[in-house]
Amino acid sequence: MSLLEIVKSLSLKYSNDVVAMRRHLHAHPELSYQEYETAKYVAAQLRSFGIEPQEGIATTGVLAEIKGKNPDKKLVALRGDMDALPITEENNISYKSKNEGIMHACGHDVHTASLLGTAKILNEIKDQFEGTIRFLFQPGEEKNPGGASYMIRDGALENPRPATIIGQHVFPMLPVGKIGFREGMYMASADEIYLKVIGKGGHGAAPDLAIDPIVIASHIIIRLQQIISRNASPKQPTVLTFGNIIGKGATNIIPYEVNIAGTFRAMNEEWRNSALEKIKKMAELIAEGMGGKCEVDISRGYPYLENNPELTRIIKSAAVEYVGEENVEDIDITLGAEDFSYYSQVIPASFYRLGTRNDAKGLSSYVHTPTFNIEEDALKISSRLMAWMALKQLSI
Ligand SMILES: [Zn+2]
Ligand SMILES: [Zn+2]
Repeated sequence: MSLLEIVKSLSLKYSNDVVAMRRHLHAHPELSYQEYETAKYVAAQLRSFGIEPQEGIATTGVLAEIKGKNPDKKLVALRGDMDALPITEENNISYKSKNEGIMHACGHDVHTASLLGTAKILNEIKDQFEGTIRFLFQPGEEKNPGGASYMIRDGALENPRPATIIGQHVFPMLPVGKIGFREGMYMASADEIYLKVIGKGGHGAAPDLAIDPIVIASHIIIRLQQIISRNASPKQPTVLTFGNIIGKGATNIIPYEVNIAGTFRAMNEEWRNSALEKIKKMAELIAEGMGGKCEVDISRGYPYLENNPELTRIIKSAAVEYVGEENVEDIDITLGAEDFSYYSQVIPASFYRLGTRNDAKGLSSYVHTPTFNIEEDALKISSRLMAWMALKQLSI
């Protein structure tokens, strides 16, 4: 039997286990950086497969390694995220969230269960490959500063440094059975921008006695869009959106201050840094020029995600071998963000998408909604495909 056939038969043997693990995790979701029970469950599962994990990395993260023959030959890393979201689940399913107001609405239960399945398969065939596979079960993907940054801080990419890292994410835009890849530029950096525009409140009929922060804020919002239209390269996707503006005056009251909040997205770290500086400077100068003041608070989020082209081609060819050319798709860039990008700043990384949509069963809700769910047939592919991608890389 070829190694590919062995992986396929093992994945058939374990596919019910992956479903059971996913349902357990789905029913017991935990918020970012509070994945204590999830981490315990992951560690216990790994032990039951005969793998001794390292717990407590990044507080609630779990690290494990499977050493094949000649373990020093090459090291590759696989990543899964474990946190859930503050959403109340509306799905009518037997494994519905038991934790009030918390839901696995981004599929991280799928990623964690799949990675456990991958570990189970690879551990059973460790005498049939050369090299080492490291498993990163990370916390806090959904919340700044991103659990990946803590995993890196705590040494998940050291001793020794893996040659590559790959990660997968559920994708309700793709039908189940399909896998999506993108070489190069893939996801955006995401920074939160908070502007406090301070004026001088007063009577709406006497603007001459006041400094109107509403008018100053309006100028700032319009002018900052010119950073996108006049300073950014037209070849670079970038977005500045203000989705929140609060000025608590009234028809006849000019307020003292206005608070604006928004998000800045970019696909290039150099542009990101210079744009953030420009946003700060321009907002401050506009307010000053109009007699007011603007306090700028920028909360830096995840960096830009670059999918290493060579690595992406390798795992894509593994996917073609596994699910067939007709089920492998090239996907478009997105200005969404993912903390997997931190890994891509350190070592060659690639992030790919697992199709989970099934319109016939009404499984088409987008991630981060109370009715998000996946077609579980995707779990028949997710574990074994990642195992095959790891083996493919080790064989090169
Ligand atoms: Zn998410
Ligand atoms: Zn996610």
